[in-house]
Amino acid sequence: MRMSKLFVQTLREFPSDAEVVSHKLLVKAGYIKKLTSGVYTYLPLMWRVLKKIENITREEMDNAGAQELLMPFLQPKELWVESGRWEAYGKELMRLRDRHDREMCLGPTHEEIITSVARDILKSYKQLPMNLYQIQSKFRDEVRPRFGLLRGREFIMKDGYSFGMTQEDLDKEYKNMADTYTRIFNRCGLPTKAVQSDSGAIGGNVSHEYMVITDTDAGENDVFYCDDCDYAANSNHAVSNLPKAVVDGKECGLIEKKIVDTPNTKTIEELSDFLKVPQSIICKCLVYIADKKPILAYIRGDKQVEETKLMNAVGATDIRIATAEEIEELMQKNGFSARAGFISAIGIKDIKIIADNTVKEMKNFVVGINENDKHLVGANLEDIQVKDFADFRLVEAGEFCPKCGKPLKVTRGIEVGNIFQLGTKYSKPMNAVYLDKDGKAKPYVMGCYGIGITRTAAAAVEAHYDEHGIKWPISIAPYHVIVVPVSGNDEKQKFVAEDIYKKLSDKGIEVVIDDRNERPGVKFKDADLIGFPFRITVGKTVADGKVEFVTRETGEKVEMTPDEAINTVVEKITEALK
Ligand code: ATP
Ligand code: MG
Repeated sequence: MRMSKLFVQTLREFPSDAEVVSHKLLVKAGYIKKLTSGVYTYLPLMWRVLKKIENITREEMDNAGAQELLMPFLQPKELWVESGRWEAYGKELMRLRDRHDREMCLGPTHEEIITSVARDILKSYKQLPMNLYQIQSKFRDEVRPRFGLLRGREFIMKDGYSFGMTQEDLDKEYKNMADTYTRIFNRCGLPTKAVQSDSGAIGGNVSHEYMVITDTDAGENDVFYCDDCDYAANSNHAVSNLPKAVVDGKECGLIEKKIVDTPNTKTIEELSDFLKVPQSIICKCLVYIADKKPILAYIRGDKQVEETKLMNAVGATDIRIATAEEIEELMQKNGFSARAGFISAIGIKDIKIIADNTVKEMKNFVVGINENDKHLVGANLEDIQVKDFADFRLVEAGEFCPKCGKPLKVTRGIEVGNIFQLGTKYSKPMNAVYLDKDGKAKPYVMGCYGIGITRTAAAAVEAHYDEHGIKWPISIAPYHVIVVPVSGNDEKQKFVAEDIYKKLSDKGIEVVIDDRNERPGVKFKDADLIGFPFRITVGKTVADGKVEFVTRETGEKVEMTPDEAINTVVEKITEALK
């Protein structure tokens, strides 16, 4: 490819709407162009990267025994009603109507479609197990499309689905996919951590997310992990053992049960300062709105609520903290006027009440009584009348690993892929069954396996860049090497550069020659920004038969003959793609 012909425009500035590195660099280096919020054109350089990630994924999936197909992204409402997700998926589903006023959606994922395809074809145990996948554009009306390709409204995904007869079949395929994912991301030059996670809207029991660990803003997930064993979990799934804390008020002299004045103690800090007791003997009562209805959640005062865990604990699909107005409304309805900080479940009718497991341990604690500026001290479980307990506590770094007991650490991660054990979540309601050996109809035991192709490309940039631009891993770089004649007017330089270009092309190396009539500074800057893994610079030293070989990753520059440069490129690329 000739730089003069390449359909690329590098920019001088970062785009003003970009917050994270991959978004900034992919726009500035001419890889993507925004059409509208969360929707991008993949320009030729980007498309080459994406095709490489797709092909690595394809090869590994095929090797693992999965078969590729392609399903429509236009989907009828009826299948989504069958699975129960037409309502449950909410606003993220891109809905539309055809000319006959029939409701449809643009696929955000394909469990419904693949299950309907499978139930018509996989009718006998003889055809199972089976694993089918596709690579395709997906549509999700994300609340906050942002970070460029990391969270788009239209993006490319590899989604795969397995069908088996037993949990054993599923466990086996799940392990097969886990190993395949590790290979895929390693080949893309992206080491990942497999972390346990919440199964969310897709449902099911066991799931793992593949995280690229990054300390930048781009990491939207907190990952808790243990250095001493292999425990790693997303914050929405992590559990921990707690260090010892004061949980019996007697240790602080709260022996007698009584109501005390606690003026203006709206927060746990203010209340603990005022009463001079640790936060761990205060039991806080929070109001959440779960599926549009208020609920009350108790948790130990020094701990925070993990909202996804709480949502799952109460069986909701949507949750958020209540506003001051919503709290006021709830209180009024029950004849109280307590504000946040003074709330109690006592006397609140027809409402779901749940407490975190930390509350079980507490004795002689401090708690609200639905009266402003007052609290009950020396309270016990019977004073809050909770029957339901669950774990919905947000884990914190330093708490202890549930597996080996060592302190947990926390880091941020970008989820590039995930695997779920679906079980019969879709096959049962959709009546997707096969006939077993005895002729009995049984639902498939399913798994599903996703990889964000476009997100993986962006995550690769987050993991490989410097102040000059992108440093693509060789396996997914749009081109392997750029040949740069320093002066466009120097015939000898031009001749040698063209010769290297031709010889590399003939050897099947993906090479670009910068034949533009630009200053050398401009050419070098663009080469670094775009992120070619190697650069061969043909400058003045060509008179002595030497060119410069530059490695983008390390910045290392070595003088060598043109033939040596060609051999070095071939060697390095063959080695990297092995
Ligand atoms: P997230 O928690 O980041 O929203 P998800 O759990 O909704 O992800 P899945 O539905 O499991 O993701 O989709 C599989 C993969 O598709 C994810 O692991 C991710 O790599 C990718 N993906 C999901 N949503 C987006 C998006 N809006 N833009 C780009 N890639 C996405
Ligand atoms: Mg999502």
